[in-house]
Amino acid sequence: MNHQYWNEKIEKMPRKELEVWQLERLKDAVGVSLRTPFYKNRLSQAGIKSPGDIKTLEDLKRIPFTTKHDLRDGFPYGFLAVPKEEVIRLHASSGTTGAPTTIYFSRDDISRWTSFVARCIYGTGCTKADVFQNMITYGLFTGGLGFHSGGEEVGMMVIPSGAGNTTRQFRLMRDFGTTVLHATPSFLLHVESKMREEGVSRDSLRLKRAFAGAEPYSEDTRRRIEQLLHIDVYNSYGLSEMNGPGVAFECQEKNGLHIWEDGYIAEIINPETLQPVADGERGELVLTILCREATPILRYRTRDLTGFMPGPCPCGRTHRRLYRITGRSDDMLIINGVNVFPSQIEEAIMAMKEVGNNYLIELEKDGVLDRLTVKTEVTPESFMDDTRPLNALKEKIRRILQASITINPRVELHESGSLPVTEGKAVRVKDLRPKDI
Ligand code: ADP
Ligand code: ZN
Repeated sequence: MNHQYWNEKIEKMPRKELEVWQLERLKDAVGVSLRTPFYKNRLSQAGIKSPGDIKTLEDLKRIPFTTKHDLRDGFPYGFLAVPKEEVIRLHASSGTTGAPTTIYFSRDDISRWTSFVARCIYGTGCTKADVFQNMITYGLFTGGLGFHSGGEEVGMMVIPSGAGNTTRQFRLMRDFGTTVLHATPSFLLHVESKMREEGVSRDSLRLKRAFAGAEPYSEDTRRRIEQLLHIDVYNSYGLSEMNGPGVAFECQEKNGLHIWEDGYIAEIINPETLQPVADGERGELVLTILCREATPILRYRTRDLTGFMPGPCPCGRTHRRLYRITGRSDDMLIINGVNVFPSQIEEAIMAMKEVGNNYLIELEKDGVLDRLTVKTEVTPESFMDDTRPLNALKEKIRRILQASITINPRVELHESGSLPVTEGKAVRVKDLRPKDI
């Protein structure tokens, strides 16, 4: 395969050099952090009073973890390291798991962030000849503006369509010959369902590839989008605490996400013991940002579950790869005492060709027990008026789910396009169980 690199020297930097680079940037990050009220206090408690206290990369471990809770406590300016007049933009997390947190950027921060996103985009084979439709929410959410600037940096023609309004999306794709899309995987599936519904022919479009991220999805979901839309789908990972998109991305090998180690130090820990796990094992991703001066964040517990893939990537990049992120440690559902991740349910059902493009997980109380209902759409070809084959399909899905999660769910089948779709991140779980007080 012919790989192209945005910054070959950095992307293929020998590991030894990369570590020297990281140590220098870590010292800088600690120096910057000491200018914030939060870290001045936190680091001095850990005996770190100046960047000189960091002598090797091992010294990272002396720095205490930072949590989402800390960021909220520090709201609004506890993490700000530059005078306010140096800030040119702010972004906030989407608040999937509670109150949003705010991140500030200086002019240099924005330009560094943009070049990381450009590196990701370019690495998938995009060039200035591409037309890029950014079908994701703009605004405080980092996905919109982050990809917008990265796309411009590569030189593509960027269409800031935002999410939603599929009919207008199709018109834009046709009118301007869109070749590249960015969206959540759930929105891409929704677009495909709507295309069929509205009779938009795939052949009238020039789509080649899409970046899909901002929420977990399975390998089968990726394959499904690729086959339905005849495109290449690349997994894109980021979070607002670490700028947003541009943290880790798949190269053309589409086998693991390169985490850009010149901009981030990544660790994988066991979320219970907080100790590092071995390469290849899964745990919680902890990130330190090395490329931002206005809002430094050290050893941030992302709660995202992944691991380092062992071995080098055939693309020649030296930056390590992460496994597909399966979800967050706090996504875990406890159903009648059994731990279940929504991603396990997605993995089980999306592999089935009869299952359509959307699903929903509902939890209720039935007496003392929890009741799990999995609602799935069924492809138009499998959705017939005859109830017999549908009942057989329902039973098949039930059995597959039970084998995967050990819980016996109720299964409901729905017509394609009938389950609710959100414009931003998909809301897959409806937990209607009364909360313990
Ligand atoms: P919020 O925490 O409010 O959702 P963000 O909008 O910053 O804030 O979203 C970042 C989070 O989205 C990540 O921490 C991760 O949980 C999820 N995410 C982003 N990209 C991916 C991806 N490719 N795969 C799985 N999860 C992802
Ligand atoms: Zn690679």
